Amino acid sequence: MNKEPVKIKEAIAQKRSGNFDEVVLGYTQEEALREASRCLQCKNPACISGCPVNIDIKKFIGQIAKKDCAGAYLTIRERNNFPSLCGRVCPAEYQCRKACVLNKGGAPFASVEAINIHFLERYAGDCAMKSNLEVSAKKKQDLSKFKVAVVGSGPAGLCCAGELARQGVKVVIFEGLHKTGGVLRYGIPPFRLPRDILDFEIDYLKKAGVEIETNFIVGRTRTLDELIAEGYSAVFLGLGAGIPSFLGIKGENLCNVYSANEFLTRVNLMGAYKFPQAHTPVAIGRHMVIIGGGNTAMDSARVALRLQKMNEISPDTTILYRRTEAEMPARRLEIEHAKEEGVKFRMLVKPEEFIGDESGFVRSLKCLKCELGEPDNSGRRRPVEIKGSDFEIDCDVAVIAIGLSANKILTGVTPLLKTDKYGDVIVDPLTMETSIKGVFAGGDIVGGEGTVIEAMGMGKKAAQGIIKYISKK
Ligand SMILES: Cc1cc2nc3c(=O)[nH]c(=O)nc-3n(C[C@H](O)[C@H](O)[C@H](O)COP(=O)(O)OP(=O)(O)OC[C@H]3O[C@@H](n4cnc5c(N)ncnc54)[C@H](O)[C@@H]3O)c2cc1C
Ligand code: SF4
Repeated sequence: MNKEPVKIKEAIAQKRSGNFDEVVLGYTQEEALREASRCLQCKNPACISGCPVNIDIKKFIGQIAKKDCAGAYLTIRERNNFPSLCGRVCPAEYQCRKACVLNKGGAPFASVEAINIHFLERYAGDCAMKSNLEVSAKKKQDLSKFKVAVVGSGPAGLCCAGELARQGVKVVIFEGLHKTGGVLRYGIPPFRLPRDILDFEIDYLKKAGVEIETNFIVGRTRTLDELIAEGYSAVFLGLGAGIPSFLGIKGENLCNVYSANEFLTRVNLMGAYKFPQAHTPVAIGRHMVIIGGGNTAMDSARVALRLQKMNEISPDTTILYRRTEAEMPARRLEIEHAKEEGVKFRMLVKPEEFIGDESGFVRSLKCLKCELGEPDNSGRRRPVEIKGSDFEIDCDVAVIAIGLSANKILTGVTPLLKTDKYGDVIVDPLTMETSIKGVFAGGDIVGGEGTVIEAMGMGKKAAQGIIKYISKK
């Protein structure tokens, strides 16, 4: 039997970095069968405990190996509503692949030998999508007289809505933006998550009877109390973490210094890469500088580089990070892709001040060099500034991608809803119920920035909590 991992095909870096088409191209059936046949079908499959929602990975890979793609899809769907999405964006190298017994690296993330579980999950999801496979719900009781409001249409809200709809509950999603998907739509660029995949999953929910109201901000358009008074039996809050953090340095409010949220929203949600055909513009510089080391920084850099190439500007996009690559929280694959496409990396650098021109536009960035010190609370070695190491780099567009926190639009006007010192909503971890009876929460608004699969897991758990709650009514 061939034990070599089956590599997934990718668009050529030189070409793909000039457009927004998908980069990772997916397995063919023959490739998926070959990769699935590498799985040892372990007696005690360690991979399952590495998955935040405990998908029966051994079973679905076995089904792919037997060419039972529909069966594999249904196995995944028992735990995860959106296989095609997660197969594309899950940080598998820190999760299921890291736990796979074939991971020989002993490294902090999975070695190449581990089974490509996420690519197989994507394969099963895409197969089902192509054949329009329907999933029927096993309804335990008739819950059709209950109506539940879901606030926010990110992965937490979508997953909660899907679970409730499968049980026959009437669901209305309220979304503040004009389009659904949360970060999946406004944050993650289409070259990582094509919009037809996202649209398919959302259409699926609509077909299952879920209603969606966009341009509806709960806390402004209606308060939570008003929503409950309209007859909703329960409410789920999947508000995300939409407020960007800033560096707090001089010159940060100069023109063309963006938060990653604004920069990515302009491009991904508003289509600024098609400006002037789209109405929203975005500044495209000759020297674009991205500050941060997470997925948001990688996405911003890869978008910035594409914008330069599409506008025939010689690409010069640089990521600045305070520590080294080993400490970067971004997915390894995204770091590799960014490098292949031509993004430059400058490590151990701390921004000190943005310098502007007489018209108020950013022109350069003053920085200090750093070295690594002792580990901090996160376990990562702390960056220590080197005195007198100041230097300046050219920068006519900057994107700050150093973290996100909870927005307070709803929590700020709902005093009975208890939050912690970060503004995150406090829940009972068993049911996901908040301090208000019948109001549940999950995703990034609970516990801060996480991952798509963690948000989905919480949305699903909350749906179970909601079903228990309304069943008692
Ligand atoms: C750029 C970027 C790239 C990322 N890449 C990855 C990745 O590759 N893999 C991964 O696993 N994770 C990734 N993440 C993290 C992941 O996307 C989040 O953890 C996840 O989206 C959280 O889901 P959520 O449903 O809690 O919130 P969100 O996705 O933020 O959705 C919340 C939704 O609620 C809406 N909303 C908020 N308040 C209100 C209100 N009062 N009324 C109505 N609507 C409201 C918002 O408009 C939004 O649509 C990334 C994050 C970013 C920002
Ligand atoms: S994916 Fe890895 S850990 Fe899981 S059953 Fe297969 S070989 Fe074993």
